[in-house]
Amino acid sequence: MKFNFANIKKAEKLLNKSECVAIPTETVYGLAGNAYSKESIKKIYKLKKRPKINPLIVHFYDYRDATNDVHLNANFFKLYKKFCPGPITFILKKKINSEIHSMVSANLNTVAVRFPYHKITRAILKKISFPLAMPSANVSSGLSPVNAEDVADEFKKKLKHIVNGGKSKIGIESTVIDLTRKPMILRPGIIGLNNIKKILNLRINIYKKNSKIVSPGMLEKHYSPGIPIYLNKKTVNYAHAQITLGNKYNHKKNFFNLSKKSDLKEAASNLYKTLRK
Ligand code: AMP
Ligand code: MG
Repeated sequence: MKFNFANIKKAEKLLNKSECVAIPTETVYGLAGNAYSKESIKKIYKLKKRPKINPLIVHFYDYRDATNDVHLNANFFKLYKKFCPGPITFILKKKINSEIHSMVSANLNTVAVRFPYHKITRAILKKISFPLAMPSANVSSGLSPVNAEDVADEFKKKLKHIVNGGKSKIGIESTVIDLTRKPMILRPGIIGLNNIKKILNLRINIYKKNSKIVSPGMLEKHYSPGIPIYLNKKTVNYAHAQITLGNKYNHKKNFFNLSKKSDLKEAASNLYKTLRK
C-alpha cells in the first residue's frame, strides 16, 4: 500500500481541530478523535450511535506517551515487550491527573490502551500531541469495516475524511486483557490465551458472561450484519447462505469459505468481509 502523505496530513489537521476521521489499523478501521477533547469524544459517540456506557480504546504511539495517563505495571511491560506495537489492548488504572476525558472510559477509573503497528496509524500518532480514542469505524452493533469502502458505506457523507490504507491485515479486533487485577481476558482475539499465559507465567481466566461485570460495554448485540445469523449449524439449509471453514463444501452456490486450509488467521481476516457480503 502506497503512503499518501496528503491524506495523512489532512487527517492530522482535522484531528487537531477536534474533528473525527476514519483511519486504517491492522485490526479493523477506526473512527479516531482526540482522547483529551470532550468535543471529539462526543462526535465519536454521536456518529457511531454508540451507547455512552460502552468505553473506547485509547491509542498511543508507544508506552512512553501513555505514562501521564495510566499506571503501567509489571504484567503490562512483559506483554508490551512481546506483542507491541500490535493487536492487544490493556485495561489499566487511570492516573488522577490524566487528561483523558471521562467519557472515553464511561466514567470508569480505568482506561483501555493499545499501541497499533499499522504504518499509517503510527505516522499519525507520531505527529499529534494527544492519544486517539478510536472505536471501530462502524455504526454501533454493526460489522467492523476492514477497508475504506466499507467505512464509507457505514457513514455515507457524514464523515469528513477517510484515510485509505488498503485492507486491514488482521481483520478482527484486538485481544482485550484486564491488568488491573489478576489478569483476565475480556475479549478474545488473534493473540491467544496460551501466548499470553506463556509470557506472564500465570493461570489466566477468560471473562464469562456470568462473572462479575468489569466492563459495562460488553453488549449482547455486536458485529451484526442486520439479518439473522445461526451459529454452529450441523445441517445445511440450501435456502440460506452458508459461511464455512475447510474444504468440505467447495464450489457450492451461496457458500462462502473463510479459509479452505482451515487456517484461523486467514479465516479471521475474511470474517467481516464475508459477513458484509
Ligand atoms: P470496540 O467496540 O472494538 O472499540 O471495543 C472496545 C472494547 O474495549 C469493548 O469491549 C469495551 O468494553 C472494552 N473497554 C474499553 N475501555 C474499557 C475499560 N476501561 N474497562 C474495560 N473494558 C474496556
Ligand atoms: Mg466495534
